[in-house]
Amino acid sequence: MKHSEKAEIFNKDEAKVNWHDKALWYVREKRDNSAHKVKGWEYLRELGSGIKANVLSNLDEYLIQFESNAKKNGIHVHWASNAEEHNEIVNSILVKHNAKKVVKSKSMLTEECHLNPYLEKKGIEVIDTDLGERIVQLAKEPPSHIVLPAIHKTKEEVDVLFQEHLGTKPSQGNPEYLVSEARKHLRNKFLKADVAITGVNFAVADTGGVVVCTNEGNADMGVHLAKAHIACMGIEKIIPQEKHLGVFLRLLARSATGQPITTYSSHFNKAEEGKEMHIIIVDNGRTEQLSREDFRASLHCIRCGACMNTCPIYRRSGGHSYDYTIPGPIGSILSPGKDLKKYSSLPFASTLCGSCSNVCPVKINIHEQLYKWRQVIVKEEKQPIIKKAILKTAGVVLSKPGLYDFAGKSARFALKNFPKFMIYNKLNAWGKARDLPEVKNDNFDEWFKKRNKDG
Ligand code: SF4
Repeated sequence: MKHSEKAEIFNKDEAKVNWHDKALWYVREKRDNSAHKVKGWEYLRELGSGIKANVLSNLDEYLIQFESNAKKNGIHVHWASNAEEHNEIVNSILVKHNAKKVVKSKSMLTEECHLNPYLEKKGIEVIDTDLGERIVQLAKEPPSHIVLPAIHKTKEEVDVLFQEHLGTKPSQGNPEYLVSEARKHLRNKFLKADVAITGVNFAVADTGGVVVCTNEGNADMGVHLAKAHIACMGIEKIIPQEKHLGVFLRLLARSATGQPITTYSSHFNKAEEGKEMHIIIVDNGRTEQLSREDFRASLHCIRCGACMNTCPIYRRSGGHSYDYTIPGPIGSILSPGKDLKKYSSLPFASTLCGSCSNVCPVKINIHEQLYKWRQVIVKEEKQPIIKKAILKTAGVVLSKPGLYDFAGKSARFALKNFPKFMIYNKLNAWGKARDLPEVKNDNFDEWFKKRNKDG
């Protein structure tokens, strides 16, 4: 299904769309306030972008350095070229520990690899311990946002979900009650878990350790209680030195939620005594993206979600309409590299306003990459005949000033004088949810000339 078709489903509930839009804009404003308080914010972004560009140009060396230092710390390092290999490695570690219960803190990589259904088929209980992730897991839905996975759910919906799955009392969506019940439920799961799986925000080449950022402390809780820790990371998570965390931790939290720093920035450098720590380094299409000159900078992404919070299309179409693990503007430039045909509608789900690029903490030129994908897609994928005909006609009209002038006059006449049903009908998709602006008598050129003449 195309993005626009999925968005139409989300748009059926107008009140929810308005609420979703406002909630994300609120997070965007928090980001602005927080970023503006940092002197040299733009310099910090430059620095973050520069460090990431250096990492991508020397990825082979940094990865080997990271592996060697991690091994020195007694960590088991595994390499996976794709999702299948990643899942098999996780399973082999679980088999070794005879693990039947797993707790997982938020990891977009394991979502990308579809780890949960893979392990569940093998009879392993996998519990997502981030509250938002647990909510969508109970609802049997994928996350709709990379930082706020259940942002599409109202507290009343969560109330009903918890009654059904956790046996809670009706509370009219009382957040304190719901959170305290979730805490009890999750604590029980933490205590019984055999193995903890976490994602990785940053992997430090010169120490061989990893850093995981959470606001709930669920990564720490899982790791400290289980007998083994598996950290899953994409190859692009490397940063060269520990001192670079000062750049990225400040950029990440402020861009994500407007916080000065995430509540827990947990450093895992080796296993606790008597326990095991494993790191799985995953490619899964990243080297291919690295080889695409126009799109390689998409691998700078530190998954803050700011481009989603600011995007007018994302805010009003919801994360599920993208049908890809990473939704929103960044997902729309990562997904066509995975499957051009399946995701060919996503680069068009943008106004190209550039707001995503403006807020991106690592200065990815997101809107330019969206435009570049469009150029690739129109050449490689069959386009609807009507769209092609309209664009061809528009090309002719826009290249001939006289014709353009005539078309403008005709359109203004039609909008003013034709009956409403001729303007607002099935052929005019824009008119479904919008009124066209008030029609003026003159075009801009005529108005401007008159204005100058009248003084
Ligand atoms: S592309 Fe930039 S703004 Fe979007 S999630 Fe990644 S780092 Fe954040």
